[in-house]
Amino acid sequence: MTQASFATHEVLNQSPPFEDVDLFALDAPLVEAVAANGGASAHAELSEFGQHWGSAAMAARGRIANENTPRLRTFDSRGNRRDEVEFHPAYHELMARSAHAGVHNSTWNAEGKPAGGGAEVVRAAKFYMAAQVETGHLCPITMTRASVAALAAQPELLAQTMPVIGTRAYDPTFAPWPKKRGMTLGMGMTEKQGGTDVRSNQTRAVRDGDAYRITGHKWFMSAPMCDAFLVLAQADEGLTCFFMPRFAPDGSVNAIQFQRLKDKLGNRSNASSEVEFTGAYAMRVGDEGKGIRTIIQMVQLTRQDCAIASAGLMRSGLAHALHHARHRSVFQKHLADQPLMQAVLSDMALHVEASTALVMRLCRSFDRAPDDPGEAAFMRLLTPAIKYWVCKSAPGFLYEAMECLGGNGYVEEGILARHFRESPVNAIWEGSGNVMCLDVLRALSREAEAASAVLQGLVEETAGLPGVADAAASIGKAFRRPDSERVARLAVERLALLAAAAALNKVSPHQAELFAVTRLAGNHASMYGAVDLAGDDIRALLERALP
Ligand SMILES: Cc1cc2nc3c(=O)[nH]c(=O)nc-3n(C[C@H](O)[C@H](O)[C@H](O)COP(=O)(O)OP(=O)(O)OC[C@H]3O[C@@H](n4cnc5c(N)ncnc54)[C@H](O)[C@@H]3O)c2cc1C
Repeated sequence: MTQASFATHEVLNQSPPFEDVDLFALDAPLVEAVAANGGASAHAELSEFGQHWGSAAMAARGRIANENTPRLRTFDSRGNRRDEVEFHPAYHELMARSAHAGVHNSTWNAEGKPAGGGAEVVRAAKFYMAAQVETGHLCPITMTRASVAALAAQPELLAQTMPVIGTRAYDPTFAPWPKKRGMTLGMGMTEKQGGTDVRSNQTRAVRDGDAYRITGHKWFMSAPMCDAFLVLAQADEGLTCFFMPRFAPDGSVNAIQFQRLKDKLGNRSNASSEVEFTGAYAMRVGDEGKGIRTIIQMVQLTRQDCAIASAGLMRSGLAHALHHARHRSVFQKHLADQPLMQAVLSDMALHVEASTALVMRLCRSFDRAPDDPGEAAFMRLLTPAIKYWVCKSAPGFLYEAMECLGGNGYVEEGILARHFRESPVNAIWEGSGNVMCLDVLRALSREAEAASAVLQGLVEETAGLPGVADAAASIGKAFRRPDSERVARLAVERLALLAAAAALNKVSPHQAELFAVTRLAGNHASMYGAVDLAGDDIRALLERALP
């Protein structure tokens, strides 16, 4: 029997899958932003990564890893504790591919020092592309990469772990980390009574020789099959950061008991646990009482990755929407040729161009911060502002992208429903929206001079663009107000917009002009497409977004 005999009718006017594409080469704004921020020499490497991650096979792995969610195996059939989480092979494949490309470690050299050059920008481009395919597995990838910054507070521990963190092997075996080919790390800060307010942590750490025993709980601890966790607990001198491996040094399974996995809106390929520590073995990282100062080094990097991933999700939404609109006909004309759809898509393209240029500019500051105080100040002030603006804009953006595909966008077989459900988490974890705004205020008050130099730099880089002078003045005024907290969202959003205009101006001055006209000079309407761009600009934006 031939397959044709099963067909009920010929399927017409449906867009082909957006697969087997080069996620790098097809994305001119990404290629240009990477080059403008020090990553030009990695073009071939990124194109290879883009082809691999843009393949139909990787898209299938992303879908399957989310359909077959991780399962907690608390006990074995005889009632012995197991505390293992099982993942579908598709998840392991995604992890292996990211590790193979160094997404979990390539910003560090063998000693765990910043690799320099354009390492941050190149790795960010990979993270951005991987996020377009599957975001859940990036949770342990980002935490492993970021953990090195906290481990630096305990140099001998960093020296021991770096040879295992530094490999490009993914080793999912449940075994002590020193015996593994590669390792992943997670983090446990949030407790039931407080996530933002980690000072309220109740988990206790008691000295046991050179090590500690930790008793307490964490209400959220993601990626529980990591080989070790950086955990906050109260020691004699106050809140302290600890390295808690899955196995104690004598080879026994450490006293880490997973209670449940969270049933989440999105992020479903990733497991997020509730966990009890019952005298778990741990080693101190940094001084007692300096836990926040130590772990914030890690959190700064995961915040950076939240922004990169959200920009990647939006890029994917745009690419799928534009691809669909170019194939789908309505009233005898492709959607992409209908003026109103063009207005929507080009306005979205402008948002993605700006977000992409902005996150790559931020990553350049991470590359340069160790040797350049100005870049260090940029990184400190702009990381929370950019996490705030980029991450919080993603759900609304993805909703619009979904709508461009009509009913198909809302259906789980496509990727947009998954992207949409995924997108809010980047704004919530690693410091939620308000907390990011308060962090900008903190940077301004603690490093006032350096922060105002950053603001001045942005003004100079955007000189002549419409609306810049007024925006800069209003930001300065808001931050100087004694009740600045009340207007912090207003000021932080404008700060991010100004920084986006500056970043875009380096990559593509004409797009920077369009961005400033619509976002700084005019108040952007609440819906995408409610703008008045010229026909040539619309065509150029869409051609740049997807040739
Ligand atoms: C899927 C998922 C995975 C997670 N994985 C981990 C993990 O691996 N490890 C980990 O430690 N945590 C993890 N978290 C927890 C996450 O980091 C926290 O949920 C987050 O930091 C917020 O803390 P909270 O839930 O206690 O909310 P709260 O701290 O109660 O905050 C609630 C709201 O109040 C706002 N707010 C707080 N303070 C102020 C203020 N002073 N002024 C105005 N507004 C304020 C916040 O912005 C937020 O919107 C995860 C969360 C999720 C959703």
